[in-house]
Amino acid sequence: MSASPWSCETIESQHSTPKGMKAAATKRTASVKRPAKRAAQPASTRRLDAYRRKRDFSRTSEPKPRRLSSRGALRVVVQKHRATALHYDFRLEAGGTMPSWAVPKGPSLDPRQRRLAMEVEDHPLEYASFEGIIPEGEYGGGTVMIWDEGAWAPMEDVDPVKAIASGEMRFVLAGTKLKGSWTLVRTGDRTWLLMKRKDEYARAADIEETEPRSVRTKRLLADIARDEGGDVKKAATGDPKRRADTRRRKESC
Ligand code: MN
Repeated sequence: MSASPWSCETIESQHSTPKGMKAAATKRTASVKRPAKRAAQPASTRRLDAYRRKRDFSRTSEPKPRRLSSRGALRVVVQKHRATALHYDFRLEAGGTMPSWAVPKGPSLDPRQRRLAMEVEDHPLEYASFEGIIPEGEYGGGTVMIWDEGAWAPMEDVDPVKAIASGEMRFVLAGTKLKGSWTLVRTGDRTWLLMKRKDEYARAADIEETEPRSVRTKRLLADIARDEGGDVKKAATGDPKRRADTRRRKESC
């Protein structure tokens, strides 16, 4: 269905159960197969077909894809999204688009936590600047917050698109909340695990609880909904219950 080079169909043949990191890392470049016919048309255009198809741009204020490339460091954005269920959309710039994962519980700084990450459609680079309301009834209807942003890079010297397509990638994040080394491992059709690796940025603290605000505007979800005409009550269910004491909150999604 998806034309993405890391869709289930395309990478099925390449995927195997997660191997030892060391062995996998040294053989990564050589073991990645190039999907057939990939260079035939602008790949970044095709990779955004699903994004376009799911949205009515006369109704949603989400960006219509325009820019196909950017300069400088690869961007990462994590968007907290109170839609049907609360989740965190984890997006890594690669090959002119942002391959994306929906992480129900959000990233954890604790290396013992393996966070489920569901592969979703690529988003355009412009999406990294989107914070606001998606109208109810539209795809993803609800409130979107730019929860963290910054730059990322694969740890090994490999092309980022190939690193993701390989289904097992070690990478470095330089965000405001998320830093240091991480692993993304594909475990099923569209299921991945997102894990913090052990380093000086690993923490036991629950970052979703201690840092619930927009990294750009310092707003909570309810603030964004109030400012921009969204459903404040629904948005507030994604915020910590008590602003004065966020540590006590136990959230389920
Ligand atoms: Mn989402």
